[in-house]
Amino acid sequence: MSFDAQGKAAVVTGASRGIGRAIAVVLARCGARVVGVDISPMDETAGLVKETGSSFFGKIMDVTDGEQNKSLAQWCVSELGGIEFLINNAGITRDNLLIRMKPDEWDSVLDVDLRAVFLMTQAFARPMMKARTGRIVNIASVIGLMGNAGQSNYAAAKGGLIAFTKSIAKELAPRGITVNAVAPGFIETSMTAALEVDVQEKYLSAIPLRRFGSPDDVAQAVAFLCSPAAAYISGQVINVDGGLVM
Ligand code: NAP
Repeated sequence: MSFDAQGKAAVVTGASRGIGRAIAVVLARCGARVVGVDISPMDETAGLVKETGSSFFGKIMDVTDGEQNKSLAQWCVSELGGIEFLINNAGITRDNLLIRMKPDEWDSVLDVDLRAVFLMTQAFARPMMKARTGRIVNIASVIGLMGNAGQSNYAAAKGGLIAFTKSIAKELAPRGITVNAVAPGFIETSMTAALEVDVQEKYLSAIPLRRFGSPDDVAQAVAFLCSPAAAYISGQVINVDGGLVM
């Protein structure tokens, strides 16, 4: 997927690796300047973005910190002239069966995967509303649609994120801002590499396309939602899952 994003800027959270890194690179290839946000250093992402000829600004920060999110939005306005694309990708899992789940495991997943998206979106909504343009893409998960044993915290966060996406799409549409979600299935990243081999095989047998997805498969859908081709699409969830959920 390619479109002309020259002169535009994108914030991508969780950009140090995995899906976030792939999104940063795909948007950079389209010409967007990329602001990567992560709690870890983003040297590799910075290198890949710079290879495309686009600029990369790495912000090491925690997306759950509302004050830092506000400062980031202000910095983007003053230094980059605003932000066209906000990609809320940072996410964590803390899997456990309901019976064993500790309140901390519930809270931390809800905090990063849902509350932080609210805080980040709120911080960027104001300048986007003023500019009367913007694209927000939230990275959800098919688990938020179908549930999963051992992931009630993650499913609740991602299901909530989808409901949040639809609500915000309605609120921001009159200001020319679209808000959509991408729901990846089983994507090969460090998040999924941690799963037992027999669990991976079980998932593979349920995927009609008989392969796991790549971070680039997800990034391509995000780029489409940021492109002029998706100008009339808002409040939608695009599953990137090899046909797992139909
Ligand atoms: P990943 O490889 O674990 O990368 C997530 C990134 O987010 C990491 O760099 C992580 O930093 C960062 N991060 C975590 N908490 C943060 C915080 N509080 N503030 C800032 N950055 C933070 O994950 P991924 O597999 O690429 O997944 C990306 C997104 O896709 C997530 O929202 C995930 O739920 C979703 N997703 C993934 C899959 C999949 O199969 N992989 C499927 C469905 C949905 P550290 O490096 O320090 O941990």
